[in-house]
Amino acid sequence: MKIIDAHSHIDYLTHTVQSDVVGTVCCTTNCEQWDKLINIMNNDSAVYGAFGVHPWFVNAVDDNFDMQLEKLLNKNSLYMVGEIGLDKHKPDMDKQIDVFIKQFDIAIKLKRIVCLHCVGAWDKILYILKQYNPNYLPIIIAHAFNENNDITMKLLRYKNIYFSFNKNCVYGRNRCIEQIPTNRILVETDGKSNVNLIDVVNQIANIKNESYMADIIYNNTKRIL
Ligand SMILES: [Zn+2]
Repeated sequence: MKIIDAHSHIDYLTHTVQSDVVGTVCCTTNCEQWDKLINIMNNDSAVYGAFGVHPWFVNAVDDNFDMQLEKLLNKNSLYMVGEIGLDKHKPDMDKQIDVFIKQFDIAIKLKRIVCLHCVGAWDKILYILKQYNPNYLPIIIAHAFNENNDITMKLLRYKNIYFSFNKNCVYGRNRCIEQIPTNRILVETDGKSNVNLIDVVNQIANIKNESYMADIIYNNTKRIL
């Protein structure tokens, strides 16, 4: 089995600790981590890097953080944008939206993949997505996805959105994974050492009744990275 972790963080490079994992999408959460991630990537070609500011840390950004981000992304066309998004459990939603849109616009301009964090704010994300021509939207990895039927169906209309699952999502009450076509499914640890990706893949294979699920998920990830 070959697996790529579609969402982790710089302190948990999944392919170095879990067998069958051959690559890790590594997301930064704040500007201080950007240089650290570049160093890691320079020494490990199995790391796929995403650069951005997480909604929990929007108050720490400099006024010109978006210019710095764009400059950094211009150094390497494979660099992705993330982890960015909105989280209703955290303060300053207006600031979160401002920081998210600035980063999302850069991802669109530079045609980069977006690693998206969204907790309880899909109405806002869907509203924002509607403001753009769907033909120009970037590939979006909706991380730790676990939503109801209505939100899932609305998001499935966007062909560029992929849905990333970890242990909690697979066992989650929504079971939205049943609605999502196999070619849009990814798996992730979210940087948590207690998430074994082989178990997550096997669980999804059971739910989808698909014996080639591991290959399908690996190919989904390879296709977009
Ligand atoms: Zn994360």
